[in-house]
Amino acid sequence: MLEDMFDFLERMSGGEGPVWQPAPASARTAIAEPLPQEGCSLEQAYGLFRDSILPYAVGNAHPGFMGWVHGAGTPVGMLAEMLAAGLNANLGGRDHMPVELERQVVRWGRELFAFPDTASGVFVTGSSMANFLGVLVARSRALGPSVRTDGMQGQGGGALVAYASRAAHACVARAMDLAGLGSAALNLIDVDGSGALDTDALASAIGCDLRQGRRPFLLVGTAGSVDTGAIDDLAALADIAARHRLHFHVDGAFGALGMLAADLAPRLGGIERADSIALDFHKWMHVPYDAGFILVRDGKHHLAAFDGGAHSYLAREPGGMSAGSPWPCDYGPDLSRGFRALKTWMTLKVYGARRLGAAISDSCERARHLGELVRRQAELELMAPVHLNIVCFRFRAPEGISDELNSRLLQAIQGSGIAAPSSTRIDGKYVLRAALFNHRTGRAQLAGLIDAALVHGRALLDELARQETTGTDRNSTCRNY
Ligand SMILES: *Cc1c(COP(=O)(O)O)cnc(C)c1O
Repeated sequence: MLEDMFDFLERMSGGEGPVWQPAPASARTAIAEPLPQEGCSLEQAYGLFRDSILPYAVGNAHPGFMGWVHGAGTPVGMLAEMLAAGLNANLGGRDHMPVELERQVVRWGRELFAFPDTASGVFVTGSSMANFLGVLVARSRALGPSVRTDGMQGQGGGALVAYASRAAHACVARAMDLAGLGSAALNLIDVDGSGALDTDALASAIGCDLRQGRRPFLLVGTAGSVDTGAIDDLAALADIAARHRLHFHVDGAFGALGMLAADLAPRLGGIERADSIALDFHKWMHVPYDAGFILVRDGKHHLAAFDGGAHSYLAREPGGMSAGSPWPCDYGPDLSRGFRALKTWMTLKVYGARRLGAAISDSCERARHLGELVRRQAELELMAPVHLNIVCFRFRAPEGISDELNSRLLQAIQGSGIAAPSSTRIDGKYVLRAALFNHRTGRAQLAGLIDAALVHGRALLDELARQETTGTDRNSTCRNY
């Protein structure tokens, strides 16, 4: 199995086979069966994995994958997962080296972001969860830890208001929802021409909310927006947060690790002043899924939002296995937790910060190159500045058919197996989005993407234009937009 997986990674590195292919009905029926009462051989189960699952994954290990913000994985990460599974450590707490290794990753986090020694951190599934924890820390700072026993009733919590840009990830609004503050209490601020939060608009929104008796408590900056990679002016946001005594949280899901890259770190200036940072090691650092993380400047605030209330079987002792408090379970909602720290630690140990940072820089260089290729083609249109490693473009077509054409173009490119971009909307317009995270992607894949966009784009333009002239009722198919 191990050998097969190394072969698989080697084939991926060579860009063999399609990025993605739809799973045939036979693959689905192969795994559909009642709860097995008797076991089968490992070979048999492995055969099902090899034949019916492995070939029909999303393809994020393949160099042609340019879809969502996905890490590509590494052999080191794969082996670390195997070691972790063999050890089967539970990192909720107690006194053992796996927990100590998680603390070591926290110490590296402090170092990377120039946070003080009093900063705390904890692994979670992903940045959706890390942003949620950030909102909970901010909530307990604003209302006092009693909000945890009394809830929002009688706390004046109804007046709390938070801020983020319109380009912020939807999980920030979701975090407000989950925290009982309501997604409507997130005031979404317009972005400027570069896609970053408009700080003048923010200042006036805060003024307006204060005049109306609301209580600003949280400012969420975005370090690398999911649609275009835009970075908010974090230093300016830190100033505004300080002036109004707001908790300053940074959603750096992928962008925060730009700190590993010498050329990108200056663009994240101000992140070192955040009160908390959410980030994912499973994106730009390619640690296998999942490896989300939150770093909190003041460990006391972090603990105050989550500790205590533990069952007596979780009591701490001065010695023995129940020593070493606080435990990771005191910093978040999870009790049983996997050994995410091992694959993260091993990735950093084996590849080193410099090389991981260089891979991040390289992906931005590839994006600039792809942006150039788009600009060189009169039939293609670049739809957003290339801030980092994300390129948004579309095939030019009359506005009336552009969205339909580009949506079908996306499906055609994905179906070709050559490249797998995703889509988003910019100013309401449907665009193709190439997110170049994969360290295996080379110029050949970028050229392949452009070729596929041109070939399929021209064919679709012909087809749609012909429908237009022959009077086919195209509107009947796009009325649902
Ligand atoms: C990916 C992403 C998230 C969500 O993180 P998950 O790890 O998928 O939960 C949040 N914000 C940004 C900017 C992201 O790119």
